[in-house]
Amino acid sequence: MKRSKLLVIGAIIGFFIGIVTVSLMAYSSVNNSTVSNSEAVSERMSYYPNTETLGPNEMRVVACGTGMPTARPKQAASSWLVELGNGEKFLFDVGTGSAERISALQIPYNHLDKVFLSHLHTDHFGDVDALFVGGALMGRQKPLRVWGPSGDTPERGTKYALDHLTKALTWDLVGRQGITDPRGYFLEAYEFDYKAVNKIIYEENGVTIRSFPAVHSLDGPVSFSLEWNGLKFVFGGDTFPNKWFDEYAKGADLAIHECFIPVPAMIEKFKFSPQSALPVATQIHTAPEAFGKVMSMIKPRMAVAYHFFNDFDIQPDLNDRIRSTYDGPLSLATDFMVWNITKDKITTRMAIVDEDIWPPAATDKPQVPDASIRVPYSKFINDGKLDMYDVIQPIYDEINEKYGLNEKQD
Ligand SMILES: [Zn+2]
Ligand SMILES: [Zn+2]
Repeated sequence: MKRSKLLVIGAIIGFFIGIVTVSLMAYSSVNNSTVSNSEAVSERMSYYPNTETLGPNEMRVVACGTGMPTARPKQAASSWLVELGNGEKFLFDVGTGSAERISALQIPYNHLDKVFLSHLHTDHFGDVDALFVGGALMGRQKPLRVWGPSGDTPERGTKYALDHLTKALTWDLVGRQGITDPRGYFLEAYEFDYKAVNKIIYEENGVTIRSFPAVHSLDGPVSFSLEWNGLKFVFGGDTFPNKWFDEYAKGADLAIHECFIPVPAMIEKFKFSPQSALPVATQIHTAPEAFGKVMSMIKPRMAVAYHFFNDFDIQPDLNDRIRSTYDGPLSLATDFMVWNITKDKITTRMAIVDEDIWPPAATDKPQVPDASIRVPYSKFINDGKLDMYDVIQPIYDEINEKYGLNEKQD
């Protein structure tokens, strides 16, 4: 073979070795940083759940619902996950559809046992049932704890709502007795005064959560602040711009506040009458221009607008309206937007999620259920069962042999 040909072949081989080496280096740097340097990982363009360790001084916020009470595939209703570098996790609102988004984050459900509700509209608490029962089935082996405001009458408060939700789930819960790990099927409601002004409602492990009133629909709605390790997260819930948010959200690192669909779109796309669109979008809720005015007052490190359909033909007008009154850092939230927050930096990205996820492994072993507390069928219903003994027994035999058990058919 000619020398020049050999040189060409050598160069080609060298080129490929180079590519493999560079790829391996890139792969190992990503893997190393997953373990040791989360700031480096958050330099990735996207967030892949369950692949990034949070730095000890870092906060991560994930939008698990940013939409409306009107369901759509792209946006669930209000829900926000706050994860802290000390391992603590908190959910603010669990609006309709959000349990599905939460599941995509692949977090063991024992870590998802604390929920804070801004108010009792279904777009803010409509998936509490899904998180409660589904979460227990997916490995939450402890009660679901839910904090929420009182109302101006007892039956308009969180405790009434959750006690009656539990009652409504009687059939569901009784049917699971003696069949699954029982520890997750308890819903604990912690109701606090909706008129509390910047009062502490939760304080544990260096985390302080405070509540202050919001102005929305009826007496009762609130906003929250969460402070930890010198970082401040504020979640406004639904509200007309109010003096408490102006005072207690000031200087937040991340400030989430509703920003409603502009009135023209409410009329043209939502088919509201002008007489209804005006009060709903500007008086019960916060118009984009008013959102901007609020953010200009509190000056957060990052302002987050939500509670609108975040589409290509809504965003430009909504953004212009906000920019008429606010020129600071801004995120127009949509589901699976993620913020990594440290003292020095806020990174905003989108999560890339796996639609085929299964429940993450529970942090504790499942408890074997006590079959003696199962509620039996009536004779009438039991007599309706067809004889499947011959085809079901091989399944029992297979599993009994594999796991060393002696389980028997009903
Ligand atoms: Zn509301
Ligand atoms: Zn709402």
